[in-house]
Amino acid sequence: MAQPTVMEKLEILSDAAKYDASCASSSTTKRNSLKGGIGSTTGSGICHSYAPDGRCISLLKILLTNYCSYDCVFCINRSSSNVRRARFTVEEVVDLTLSFYKRNYIEGLFLSSGIIRSPDYTMAELVRVAQTLREVHGFRGYIHLKLIPSANADLVAQAGLYADRVSINVELPSEVSLKRFAPEKQPREISAAMGGLKLRIEEGKAERAKSRRAPAFSPAGQSTQMIVGADGASDAAILQRSAQLYGSFGLRRVYYSAFSPIPDSSAQLPLAEPPLMREHRLYQADWLTRFYGFEVGEILDDGVGGMLDLAIDPKLAWALRHRARFPVDVNRADRETLLRVPGLGTKSVGKILETRRFRRLRLEDVGKIARSMTTLRHFIVAEGWRPGAVLDSERLKQHLAPRPQQLALL
Ligand code: SF4
Repeated sequence: MAQPTVMEKLEILSDAAKYDASCASSSTTKRNSLKGGIGSTTGSGICHSYAPDGRCISLLKILLTNYCSYDCVFCINRSSSNVRRARFTVEEVVDLTLSFYKRNYIEGLFLSSGIIRSPDYTMAELVRVAQTLREVHGFRGYIHLKLIPSANADLVAQAGLYADRVSINVELPSEVSLKRFAPEKQPREISAAMGGLKLRIEEGKAERAKSRRAPAFSPAGQSTQMIVGADGASDAAILQRSAQLYGSFGLRRVYYSAFSPIPDSSAQLPLAEPPLMREHRLYQADWLTRFYGFEVGEILDDGVGGMLDLAIDPKLAWALRHRARFPVDVNRADRETLLRVPGLGTKSVGKILETRRFRRLRLEDVGKIARSMTTLRHFIVAEGWRPGAVLDSERLKQHLAPRPQQLALL
């Protein structure tokens, strides 16, 4: 059988990588230099992600190979899967990255891999890509490397020296599910590897604080991914697990990836994917715990099976369950209280606090600060404004719930 060309490999291995959510979105067709201008976002394997400074960047998102000796039930690349296989050489990945980078198609590389021969062999190949890019070609673009938890600690340490960000997937919210769906993966190894990364990242930061010449170790930190909807875990269980991961390992992000049914899948897996809105609500809830002062237990204190309301966002759902705390006076409330008001984000709260040092805010003033007043107006008091009895209305949720929308899949 003819060997696939590099472009055919790119098609196979970028498609195989799209199930990893650690990169924020998949291919787009918005810009193409063939029609003039410089740079392109078209073609296989280009996704968008966010750099540590908040910039949206384009990444070449691929697997080194989709051959894998493991048989994780939920994974399209598992050993028993009947997919087309391909494998890049290290040099091919380096050449592709440089070629796309020089043409301004991408600003970096997201590289993962199935496990071939052994975890150490695979990890060494991944490291060799990053090392060649950095040391041989002086590549200054962004590199995100997926790590293999059971790989030798020295290899992991090298990966952190070349990559901007590293990640290890916990895959599923509980050890029980991991053992059931990914029997070759060891929860203890995953935790130990993440703990080791945390220490190295902290040491790297401390060294850099002493001397700017000290090498940076994964300066954009570490992240992980959890698959949602493959096992029976509730949103409460998922968010509790995330809170534990953030707390124990100092993760920058936990990514949630809605399980998508795969061909010839195991009977253990559900036949249908969960609603994509579930993934979206989990991200919103995750955000509330990290930036808005909410505890997971508060977000899911409605006693309905630990699942987030799909119809409305979790902050609005919480506010509707705690109406006695509203309306909040934007001219008097402290930051923590303002952050809990539906429709106010962290930036709006900062601007409200800043502006009210000089004058009392009217509803129109808040309208100039907040993105939308549709929901917000019902939950605040401002100079000359009170929301009236509408806050007590049984129909308020119905009134504020957005119309159902189809979310794009991958
Ligand atoms: S080790 Fe990774 S690539 Fe291999 S089957 Fe498991 S999830 Fe898929």
